[in-house]
Amino acid sequence: MQCEDAPCARVCPVGAIRLNRETGAYEVDEDRCLGCKMCSLVCPFSAVVPDRYTGKAVKCDLCKGYPACAAVCAPDALRFEEDIHARVAQRREAAAQIRTSILREGAVIPSGLEKLGSAGYES
Ligand code: SF4
Ligand code: SF4
Repeated sequence: MQCEDAPCARVCPVGAIRLNRETGAYEVDEDRCLGCKMCSLVCPFSAVVPDRYTGKAVKCDLCKGYPACAAVCAPDALRFEEDIHARVAQRREAAAQIRTSILREGAVIPSGLEKLGSAGYES
């Protein structure tokens, strides 16, 4: 489970949980994790738990975009649906690059649109 606005990542005092923009998964950096369990406390789905031996946080990282659980599930009870947030992030980035290259050519942003953020979204 990957929240759009992941409480686990927001609460972590050392920034050990970060979004992988390629896969849309929030991943734990074990080297940074202190094992404080704050992420487990705030997760609404109990989807991040301390490792039994190390005490460090463990959560699904979507197997780098190819979830093994979904691949082996014979009756298709588990299905991997492409993460919408990753797709949105990629499109925002593409939009920002296009906008930058258009401005480089000397184009003028129509009045009323200046308040939009660099990727065309209100900030
Ligand atoms: S571990 Fe919990 S809070 Fe973090 S992204 Fe997954 S469901 Fe959301
Ligand atoms: S257990 Fe680790 S990942 Fe979770 S909040 Fe604490 S330091 Fe961050």
